[in-house]
Amino acid sequence: MNKNIDIKTLVRPNIERLSPYTSARDEYKGKEGVFLDANENPFGVVNRYPDPYQKELKEVICNIKNGKTSQLFLGNGSDEAIDLAYRIFCEPKRDKAIVFSPTYGMYEVYANINEVELIDIPLDGNFQIDIEKVTPYFKDPQVKLLFICSPNNPTGNLINRETIFTLLNQFKGIVIIDEAYIDFSNEPSWISEIERYNNLIVLQTLSKGWGMAGLRIGMAWMKEEVLYYFNKVKSPYNLSSINQEAAIKQLSDIALFNSNINVLLEERTRMINELNKLSITKFIYSSNANYLLVEFEEADQLYKALINQEIIVRNRSKVVDNALRISIGLPSENTKLLNALKNIENEKESIIYR
Ligand SMILES: *Cc1c(COP(=O)(O)O)cnc(C)c1O
Repeated sequence: MNKNIDIKTLVRPNIERLSPYTSARDEYKGKEGVFLDANENPFGVVNRYPDPYQKELKEVICNIKNGKTSQLFLGNGSDEAIDLAYRIFCEPKRDKAIVFSPTYGMYEVYANINEVELIDIPLDGNFQIDIEKVTPYFKDPQVKLLFICSPNNPTGNLINRETIFTLLNQFKGIVIIDEAYIDFSNEPSWISEIERYNNLIVLQTLSKGWGMAGLRIGMAWMKEEVLYYFNKVKSPYNLSSINQEAAIKQLSDIALFNSNINVLLEERTRMINELNKLSITKFIYSSNANYLLVEFEEADQLYKALINQEIIVRNRSKVVDNALRISIGLPSENTKLLNALKNIENEKESIIYR
């Protein structure tokens, strides 16, 4: 099935009407020249404004990801794209968005910032989407956005492909699939479906698999007609030239990327095996990402005990009972965590048996 939604009808009227800032560099595309157009200072080291459309970086990314530069938005982290999606499509105090919890917290934070009502539909016992619970909301034209995080943070699992197709086919708003952890999974990206679904936005990032979280560079893939609005609304120079250059450099070493991913995947397997040997481990959720969601005995206490040893994991026990989310680190860091857990377990046993 193909989907061709009238995107214009989803866009906030003020954004439709908006005449965007045209930067000096929008008007002259050449690289050479005497640039006296942008009030830059001719002295200084990073004295020139960066390319507002990040053309060179986009080409490098598209070569790796098999995408089209004409369908790629780059943001100051993919978080920027999440915020922009609310600002483009959701009228504050009127429009709504759907999320499936437990999931990535920023969907809610940006909804709150933009005064957009969030419809929070809990995932089922296997952390999958229950279609029956979602479709009734599709009758409401004020529901503009639907977020699917796959692999899901913090649970680590993929969302069923057939379910996502059903949602894509039935929902008349914008479907955002967040693939922040796609590099750790064998699942194909949804980028290839953008041609068929003009209401699909796929988020990816250089923060996780590529190890560039400090650079703040996120991708959002979408049809040209949707990208038009992202470019209209974004800050003109949203990615610094230093960050663009650093990313281009790091993206050139695919062999290193692959070997780092392999190390992390091997470490993930080792951590699963070792954690399963501990009696304080209750359950390890299967993961397609670079973290494990683990159910422990008394997670809050364990979390504090680890903090005391300067080992910091993410306490998710408020969203999944007794669960800690553990990022896969360097082999030596993972070993430190395992040793700390073993010591905590031994202390516990010695107290019980004393
Ligand atoms: C980390 C993360 C992001 C944020 O990525 P940035 O590009 O660093 O902003 C987005 N979505 C999910 C699910 C994440 O876990």
